[in-house]
Amino acid sequence: MTATIEQPSTSTAVTDYDAVVIGAGFAGLYALHKFRDRMGMSVRVFEAADGVGGTWYWNRYPGARCDIESVHYSYSFDDQLQQEWVWSERFAAQPEILRYLEHVADRFDLRRDIQFDTRVDSMVWDDADSMWRVGTEAGETVTAKYVISGAGNLSVPKTPEFDGVDSFRGKVFLTGNWREENVDFSGKRVAVIGTGSSGIQAISEVAKTAGQLTVFQRTPNYATPIGNGPADADEVAAVKADYSAVRDASRNHFLGVPYSQVQPSALAVSAEERRATFDARWNAGGFRLFIDSFQDILFDKQANDTIACYIRERIHERVSDPAVAELLAPKDYPYGTKRPPLETDYYEAFNRDNVSLVDIKKAPIEAITETGVRTADAEYEFDVIILATGFDAMTGPLLKLGIVGRGGLKLSDKWAYGPRTYLGLTVNGFPNLFIVTGPQSPSVLYNMPLAIEDHVDFIGDAIAYLRDGDLDIIEPTLEAEDAWVEGALEISSQTLLPGTDSWYMGANVPGKPRICMLYLGGAPAYRAICDDVVANGYDGFVLTPATVPAI
Ligand code: FAD
Ligand code: NAP
Repeated sequence: MTATIEQPSTSTAVTDYDAVVIGAGFAGLYALHKFRDRMGMSVRVFEAADGVGGTWYWNRYPGARCDIESVHYSYSFDDQLQQEWVWSERFAAQPEILRYLEHVADRFDLRRDIQFDTRVDSMVWDDADSMWRVGTEAGETVTAKYVISGAGNLSVPKTPEFDGVDSFRGKVFLTGNWREENVDFSGKRVAVIGTGSSGIQAISEVAKTAGQLTVFQRTPNYATPIGNGPADADEVAAVKADYSAVRDASRNHFLGVPYSQVQPSALAVSAEERRATFDARWNAGGFRLFIDSFQDILFDKQANDTIACYIRERIHERVSDPAVAELLAPKDYPYGTKRPPLETDYYEAFNRDNVSLVDIKKAPIEAITETGVRTADAEYEFDVIILATGFDAMTGPLLKLGIVGRGGLKLSDKWAYGPRTYLGLTVNGFPNLFIVTGPQSPSVLYNMPLAIEDHVDFIGDAIAYLRDGDLDIIEPTLEAEDAWVEGALEISSQTLLPGTDSWYMGANVPGKPRICMLYLGGAPAYRAICDDVVANGYDGFVLTPATVPAI
């Protein structure tokens, strides 16, 4: 497979912008800086919110914080920025991450090219003029040669699947669209529905002040300690003294963190050694237990059983009532096949008198009523209901853009049976469209700011290559795309992930195609493939010069 340079087949007319970027989260902000300030392109960013921040703008629920250490979960593109910014905690909370992204927007003077309060709802490729026509909900249309989606993977909360939400007379919050700060729960009867990462963070916090908190759990989760605390001055100084080496180590790690103590197999060591390794990783916190203990836990069910059993034991140690502990301990799926949540005092919350747990696997929720929640076997009254029910992940934000490619091909039709991409970045039939951290890239299984920088840099390099070669259009071949999708699915089939219902698989949204949406070969292998593609003159892509239209 090699890159093909075709003869002119289309014309390219003058566009309003060189590039339109969707979103002003980590991806959109860096893309704007890179394309405008480092490459001299004209760029317009459209952002649905009235501020920057993306995930960290929309998720202001109590307890929201990152689960990768902040010195790693941050931009690396500007050394002065990473040297000067000071994180107050090891794992910063949402307000601090939002302040950081606001600082980045100001520091690099980004806001002047971001159009806030503007939702893009159509993007149509104009074959005759070789340009994208990007339309907004307000009816504005602009043209651009390239479109870069920084619309995010976790930016479209699931539509509530319960009847009667609108009839509830109290207040309903959705964790993924939560803009109020410092909500007061004192004395209130509060329900939380959902025990994924968002629910677990919210429950731990709300339990401290709510009059009564009732947690509705369908599937228990393997939550493990985050190990948060004030940032350690010596640790931070050590990172900053050699930041570029730390970033290199992160980029050379499967998950994008500079961990280096993983052992080959949980089954190759004695029970005592295994326990000692699990204890050390459990105590150190972060994703160490998940990604820095044994390499085979995501591939070998027997290896996975050892860690799943360990976590179940730890849950039982922390929860006083054995029946509640049993309900909180996952049994039906392997550890790590849903994104593992990290927590502070989550299990201890269930030892409080004001917190109770309801098993909605046994007695599902039938409806939200005027006064609360009705399950198959009881009615509950509440003042506040918190829906922590997750997202239409990965494909949801892209399909909401109303993308139409060559010859009227809709992305929603092309992806009717699941996403199809080349490198998780581009799609055949959709020229000059780039997706940052798209499906079938390592994306959400890679420290996201680094994943985003890698993708934006790849896109910038591709555009520069086109410019230098008097080329105008880049599009992956169908052959390259098919091979990429097949390869990504083949790798996923060697892991335990496809056996579990998770948002990685699209299985959390009723009716969504069930397919693994991640490239599971790891970030380093992925980067090596991308480097090869570039070194071979954009292997797998067709590059086309466009004719200048006659005047
Ligand atoms: P987003 O931050 O999602 O930004 C996308 C932006 O695009 C949004 O502002 C949205 O309004 C805008 N947008 C979308 N569609 C449109 C449209 N049609 N028109 C206009 N604007 C649009 N990842 C990690 O690696 N580590 C973590 O610790 C971590 N913690 C997380 C915690 C939470 C609560 C959540 C929900 C996710 C977390 N993630 C984490 C994943 C997180 O989404 C990424 O780390 C990162 O913030 C994504 O940045 P982004 O710019 O790609 O997308
Ligand atoms: P999630 O992991 O998809 O969890 C959603 C929860 O809601 C699950 O417990 C799910 O149960 C439940 N649920 C969904 N629909 C339901 C229904 N109809 N009835 C009953 N229960 C229902 O979503 P999330 O917690 O928002 O997290 C999504 C992702 O965002 C995370 O995996 C992570 O990548 C990111 N995130 C990260 C952090 C962090 O720590 N930094 C924090 C929050 C989010 P089932 O499991 O049975 O479907």
